[in-house]
Amino acid sequence: MKGECNCGAIRYHLKISPSDVYMCHCSICRKSTGSGGIAVVIVENEHFQWLSGQDVLRHWRKPGHDWHSYFCSVCGSAMPGENDDDRMYIPVGTLVDEVESLRLRHHLFVDSKAGWEPLSESAIQHKAGFES
Ligand SMILES: [Zn+2]
Ligand SMILES: [Zn+2]
Repeated sequence: MKGECNCGAIRYHLKISPSDVYMCHCSICRKSTGSGGIAVVIVENEHFQWLSGQDVLRHWRKPGHDWHSYFCSVCGSAMPGENDDDRMYIPVGTLVDEVESLRLRHHLFVDSKAGWEPLSESAIQHKAGFES
């Protein structure tokens, strides 16, 4: 499974086909995307590989927060980054093929959700992070 940014400078490869999609509705993700939040899948580090463009990959950490993001410095697309020590998060919209296996499973930070955005009833709703 491959992914890339809008301009194509950054490309990556997943060695597995993930299935569970997490949609984060927190206020930081909403500002970052300019939308209702961001949808990601989580993969083990060993299943992720950069193919090109790491020279134009940029990182930003919000001061005083654990929240951080990676993005293409040419086109601004959200890019994969470290979820924790063992896993990467992958912005789902940057995957380019084999997306049939993906299902929205978890809504995160629904207490911060934009009022205009409906939630799919089939996914589990968490008030904040995954543990809540
Ligand atoms: Zn790009
Ligand atoms: Zn978020």
